[in-house]
Amino acid sequence: MRLKSGVVSGTEYFELVKACKEGGYALPAVNCVGTNSVNACLEAAARNKSDIIIQLSNGGAQFFAGQGMEDGAAAKVLGAVSAAQHVHLLAQHYGVCVVLHTDHANMKLVPWVESLIEHSEEYYKNMGRPLYTSHMLDLSEETIDDNLNECARVLKRMAKIDMSIEIELGVTGGEEDGVGSDVDLSADNSHLYTQPEDVLKAYELLSPIGHFSVAAAFGNVHGVYKPGNVKLSPEILDACQKLVEAKHGGNKNPLNLVFHGGSGSEKSKIEEAISYGVFKMNIDTDTQFATSVGVGRYVEEHSKAFKHQIDPESGTPYKKFYDPRKWLRAGEETFGARLDEAFTDLGSVGKSLAHKAG
Ligand SMILES: [Zn+2]
Repeated sequence: MRLKSGVVSGTEYFELVKACKEGGYALPAVNCVGTNSVNACLEAAARNKSDIIIQLSNGGAQFFAGQGMEDGAAAKVLGAVSAAQHVHLLAQHYGVCVVLHTDHANMKLVPWVESLIEHSEEYYKNMGRPLYTSHMLDLSEETIDDNLNECARVLKRMAKIDMSIEIELGVTGGEEDGVGSDVDLSADNSHLYTQPEDVLKAYELLSPIGHFSVAAAFGNVHGVYKPGNVKLSPEILDACQKLVEAKHGGNKNPLNLVFHGGSGSEKSKIEEAISYGVFKMNIDTDTQFATSVGVGRYVEEHSKAFKHQIDPESGTPYKKFYDPRKWLRAGEETFGARLDEAFTDLGSVGKSLAHKAG
């Protein structure tokens, strides 16, 4: 099945998820903070002929609106809307399918998500599609029943405008933009692993309401740590799939699973996770670092241009070196190179479902 290039939603998105799982590959979900990172995502996806997931955390959305905006809550909404409008306008011209998504939202951030749903409802009236493909609610700090009931309430509203929800069961270690807590890697970390019974409960409650995916915890953490400190156990994902399959029959890997904290993960564990129905892997820490490496290298190579407009000895003008387009582009290039690696690791190179519009 081929899809029109651009932002996907509803059945197009469901087809995309299905194609990933059936084809044994996954898409990188990349946290973006401005048009530089968004454009670098689109460029890398087009180069790799892969579809891609562009996502905004609440902090990323706020940054997108500009750090000068006084009202933080309004900035988080407007920044996310602005980012989405930018992606809607440009994505189709890059010839790939793009999933637009927001990252972790705990109970305090549910109003943020609901404001964005309101924007999607408005957009739907005019365009016949939502602004965002999906949102994440991360209520893993709550009891399992509070978590699932709130997700069900929000999904009911989202399903009416062809949106999907991502939920979190078990706790991804580490902190992402103020959501979650720092992980004590030396402590007993059984809470870092999702319980298959909870996943079954989620499946039974949510699948009659609408489309959903599950960020399951299998020892994954946000951030990158010294090798050996993070023990990934993807077999937990297999146990979740098998329990749902046993109770409800149907196809292999009935759950749509999401891998958080993909940065720094062993390649073999990534492959194994994909074989258990992971269609989305989040990447943030590694692309942040890659951006900084590119900018840092550029600044070191042209250090004089960052101190003098004109060389104090030779009188050479440095304009073409301190032009922000030069060093911003250097960051985009190394960001894109890290994404090339991600597309390869996830097996999505050449798998785009998009055919160019027209
Ligand atoms: Zn995460």
